Amino acid sequence: MDRYAVLGYPIGHSKSPIIHQQFAKQTKQALSYEAIEVKPEVFSATLEDFFHAGGKGVNCTVPLKELAFEKVAQLTERAQFSGAVNTIKLMDDGTLLGDNTDGVGLLTDLCVNLGLSLEGKRLLVLGAGGAARGILGPLLGAKPSALFLANRTASKAEAMEALFASVGHITPTSYEALSDHQFDLIINATSASLNDALPAINAGLLAANGVCYDLAYSEQPTAFVRWGLDEGARLSVDGRGMLVEQAAHAFKLWRGVMPDTAQVLESLK
Ligand code: NDP
Repeated sequence: MDRYAVLGYPIGHSKSPIIHQQFAKQTKQALSYEAIEVKPEVFSATLEDFFHAGGKGVNCTVPLKELAFEKVAQLTERAQFSGAVNTIKLMDDGTLLGDNTDGVGLLTDLCVNLGLSLEGKRLLVLGAGGAARGILGPLLGAKPSALFLANRTASKAEAMEALFASVGHITPTSYEALSDHQFDLIINATSASLNDALPAINAGLLAANGVCYDLAYSEQPTAFVRWGLDEGARLSVDGRGMLVEQAAHAFKLWRGVMPDTAQVLESLK
């Protein structure tokens, strides 16, 4: 049976194994998919062991996406552009191909599943890690009127402005400097929710009729989803829709068939 896995730290919360097992059943593919806890310092060796033992592909999650970018021999255009890899496929010639399906996953959830239009909207992204790298290009491609990027470590947000300059304008900012602004959509791409914590955002940033989206997901509403509800968001949701959509694109890369995501998303609710 072909073997796949998701690598990350922490990984206990991951729903990727359930999702890929459902995709496999639905598309009649014989494969196994497991979650493996991998700290950054052993990522390289673990990845090599996995493929030497016959593995066919992996997903990489927090905090491994930028390390995964460094490990692969080939990159898809969107992975090359973002500097982060969330999907690795073993190619027929034995080399590793890195892709990034986070951006298409998020945009599909926002614009198709949730029916939002981002054109002309004011967007704020919190966090400038591996996940943010994957979503910034596609978000700019949706033609917002503004895209602000706040990060705890200012230099990382500033680096994104230059990295994505050919696609559109990113305004890097600190959390403190946000207080004069309002946004139609606030996306939490920090990993704070994994510790039930909130980035240092102030009240009053969400415009009337605004939407909050947390890339993280959990059984109970995340700290950021709760913040959005407290701020009067018309919609404040976690990233399980993105998770299913990005997984579908990874599955397509590995197996050549696109699974039906609606069925799987429904089963996760
Ligand atoms: P990384 O480790 O690469 O980056 C983490 C980011 O979070 C950094 O910008 C870091 O800031 C910031 N951060 C962490 N803790 C805090 C805090 N307490 N306050 C403010 N900022 C904080 O992680 P990823 O980018 O890979 O993942 C980010 C989140 O997105 C995770 O929760 C992950 O589960 C989720 N995710 C969900 C997906 C989905 O399909 N739904 C797909 C991909 C990711 P600094 O740079 O200052 O350290």
